Amino acid sequence: MKKIIIGNFKMNPSSKKKASDLFKAFDIKTKNLVILCPPFCFLEKGENYILGAQNCFLKNEGAYTGEVSPKMLKDLGCKYVILGHSERREYQKENNEEINKKIKICLENKLKPVLCIGEKLGENKEEVLKNQLKECLKGIKGSVIIAYEPIWAIGTGKTCKNEDILDSYNFIKKIVKESSVLYGGSVNSKNAKQILSITDGVLVGGASINKKEFLNIIK
Ligand code: PEP
Repeated sequence: MKKIIIGNFKMNPSSKKKASDLFKAFDIKTKNLVILCPPFCFLEKGENYILGAQNCFLKNEGAYTGEVSPKMLKDLGCKYVILGHSERREYQKENNEEINKKIKICLENKLKPVLCIGEKLGENKEEVLKNQLKECLKGIKGSVIIAYEPIWAIGTGKTCKNEDILDSYNFIKKIVKESSVLYGGSVNSKNAKQILSITDGVLVGGASINKKEFLNIIK
């Protein structure tokens, strides 16, 4: 079955040239659906991957200095937008209400949202996931991809145990039956295969800017 593999470059690499090198390397035929999400300034179309963004603003145009709208992303060839990433929740103080507005405007612009949810270490996982899904998806009719990303596993090298990933996958699926559910959190070329066998896909951060690692994951 076709799996969804998202590469979240985060605020990397350091130049347009380095980003172009990554795009060229990842532009290969694969059985999976590969979505590459670079910083806005490096968006570059390819033949075999789909473009996504790491965020967008909650309006289409206007006096919002420094923001990038869903309409602009659509025009640049994006089809997906990652929303509610834990790094944005932490550093930009994004909350569920704002994320909900972003999901709505993305869907209006025919962009597919990838909603990130996940608990911090020590939090009650089911309570957090239920609440994030309820608030972020309030009044949403269109289809949204869900990325389960336990915050303690992001960029730490600590992957969630397979049985816990499966448990979270089933929990989320029960709430949002029609959504594809991905896992994210220290996915690499060694653990990707196993994780892909129990989920609909993976959201890869750090390993997505490492050519060898990411090629091994998408193949
Ligand atoms: C992410 O950026 O969503 C992520 C999961 O990062 P990493 O793969 O580096 O843990």
